[in-house]
Amino acid sequence: MNWKHQVGLEIDARRAVLEQMALTIGNNPELGFAEVKAARLLSGVLEEAGFQVTRGIAGLETAFRGVLGQGRPNIALLCEYDALPELGHACGHNLIGTASVGAALGLAPSLEQLGGRITVLGTPAEETGSGKVILVNAGCFADVDAAMMFHPAADNLLMATSNALDAYEFEFTGKAAHAADSPEEGINALDGVIALFNGVNALREHLPDQARIHGIISEGGQAPNVVPAKAAARFYIRAPRRAILNDITAKILKVAEGAALMTGTAVRWHEFELGTDHMLTNQGLALAFGSNMQRLGVEDIEEFAEGMGSSDMGNVSQVVPAIHPYLSIGQGLVAHTPKFARASVSEGGLQAAVLAAKALAYTAVDLLTDPLLLQAIQEEHTRRKESEQL
Ligand SMILES: [Zn+2]
Repeated sequence: MNWKHQVGLEIDARRAVLEQMALTIGNNPELGFAEVKAARLLSGVLEEAGFQVTRGIAGLETAFRGVLGQGRPNIALLCEYDALPELGHACGHNLIGTASVGAALGLAPSLEQLGGRITVLGTPAEETGSGKVILVNAGCFADVDAAMMFHPAADNLLMATSNALDAYEFEFTGKAAHAADSPEEGINALDGVIALFNGVNALREHLPDQARIHGIISEGGQAPNVVPAKAAARFYIRAPRRAILNDITAKILKVAEGAALMTGTAVRWHEFELGTDHMLTNQGLALAFGSNMQRLGVEDIEEFAEGMGSSDMGNVSQVVPAIHPYLSIGQGLVAHTPKFARASVSEGGLQAAVLAAKALAYTAVDLLTDPLLLQAIQEEHTRRKESEQL
């Protein structure tokens, strides 16, 4: 039996359903943790196809799990479906959920004969809330053998690095006073924030090349004639590895303490979003996905590139073999722009979602039918986790 051919035909037969799903989610953008309609649509389609669906997993209303089959291997297909404020689906997450559900629908009729289990996980709030971190911490990947998804982009790309990320808010407290009449009575909280930025900028000279630190002043006082009693800043801090990032973040916390000391303010900090870990792309699994792309007629696939952003898929890749390949939905596109949002509901976007569904499903067939491949990717995962700890 040519399982891939069979699975491909099943996906083609459901093309209209998949396109409708991508367009419905794409044209009704919902923000992270509020993707109620999208989660209901995707999980409902799975339920109709015979998947056993649980909604609201890991304490998240818009997370879900759909399971078909039993035993091992257990292959996870991950859905994202959150949008961006103002821009809508400018990261094309409507296509991610569609592709993973599409792959699952294609595999479903053959799964009993293929053996093993398919678990579709609905993972909310990739953009701002790191839903996958919550799912990882809740043990949702405990019996998963491999996790896969695709992401829309300008170009086809198998493996990209992504940075570990910390998100910190610093709140400085001082003392209000009339800025002209009695400035000597005041303690300027904004000075604390400015000292923090200057200290961070001095630190940059001594950081690894690929570190990224970007901050905003989220509160800077109310009026120029009042010494600000409160001021705050938010920073994203990124580095290629979690261990390197921990070191940088610790230094920035020291800078914040120093900024408070030199300005006579008090400072408190907290993580305003969950941090994420760097991506550990499983090469064996990525190459299997790549050869399936070629089988589907895609020739222009770049193998590796450095990515400077961050994703909660990084945390998944730390606990199970995982891939996060990119498929083109239009040349020259830049993510998080209105043009990208239009592409995510265009013919090119829909084609990419169907192509991704097939490549994901073919790769799942590889994992379900080739125990040596499964063993190799798991050994690679263990080996790389061990070497990173040295
Ligand atoms: Zn994205």
